[in-house]
Amino acid sequence: MGVNEILARSILQKSGIPGVSFVINPYTGCVHGCVYCYARFMKRFTGHAEPWGAFLDAKVNAPDLLKRQLENRKTPLTEEVFLSSVTDPYLPAEKQYQLTRRILEVLLEYQTPISILTKSELVLRDIDLLRQFKRCSVGLSMMTTDDAMASRFEPYASLPSQRIRALKTLKESGVYTYAFLSPYLPRVSNIEHLFEGLQGAIDEIGIEALNVRACNWAGVEKILKEHFPKLLPGYKQLARDDLYWDQLEQQAHYLIESYRLTFMGFFRH
Ligand code: SF4
Repeated sequence: MGVNEILARSILQKSGIPGVSFVINPYTGCVHGCVYCYARFMKRFTGHAEPWGAFLDAKVNAPDLLKRQLENRKTPLTEEVFLSSVTDPYLPAEKQYQLTRRILEVLLEYQTPISILTKSELVLRDIDLLRQFKRCSVGLSMMTTDDAMASRFEPYASLPSQRIRALKTLKESGVYTYAFLSPYLPRVSNIEHLFEGLQGAIDEIGIEALNVRACNWAGVEKILKEHFPKLLPGYKQLARDDLYWDQLEQQAHYLIESYRLTFMGFFRH
């Protein structure tokens, strides 16, 4: 798949996500192929006819544009900037384009607080920059610790074992780390295995329940049907069952205390 080079009109954008003030998405589209991707709603704003996951635009002017946007501000940006909300900042194309890296260089110049969320171990390439921020947190999102299981649901992202190794390396380098268990899939994700696998690799953890009301159910259903057919009957109902999530949330609180982690929140839909 080719990458389209485009010129963005704006790169530092106000965010509507609760708790997130600004976002930067260096790319439009995402090629990690997660079947549950919530960002696929974005396709209708991109002008692409191809399905979500089959196109990628690189905003090649992003670092220069960001510099201009920050220079034009009357006061320095003290709120956290989140990378990224509707793409992954460390897609394979980032190896060539280095847009995220150059964006980080600009943000570092202004010591803008940042939070990164990715599913790629490529984030390790930028440890040298990440360590220099006064306020920086780096998260890897995952739904399972099981590499084989993940490759069904997230076929082109780094394997969970690679993500956990990346978190450990970041933490050992002095970077504040978090895991975002998202989406948590009932009967597929295993909260105990996730906490155990992440032991020593993170400072903070957040959990997001699978949202089956979003446009992603068809993708999840297809993988369940193909690979885990026994789980399918009643699955959608279970994912909407408040009692199920109440119990999981309780278990999460217990585990967070046992592992002495900071709790980012339990996000339900
Ligand atoms: S990494 Fe994020 S944006 Fe990319 S496909 Fe997966 S869920 Fe969607």
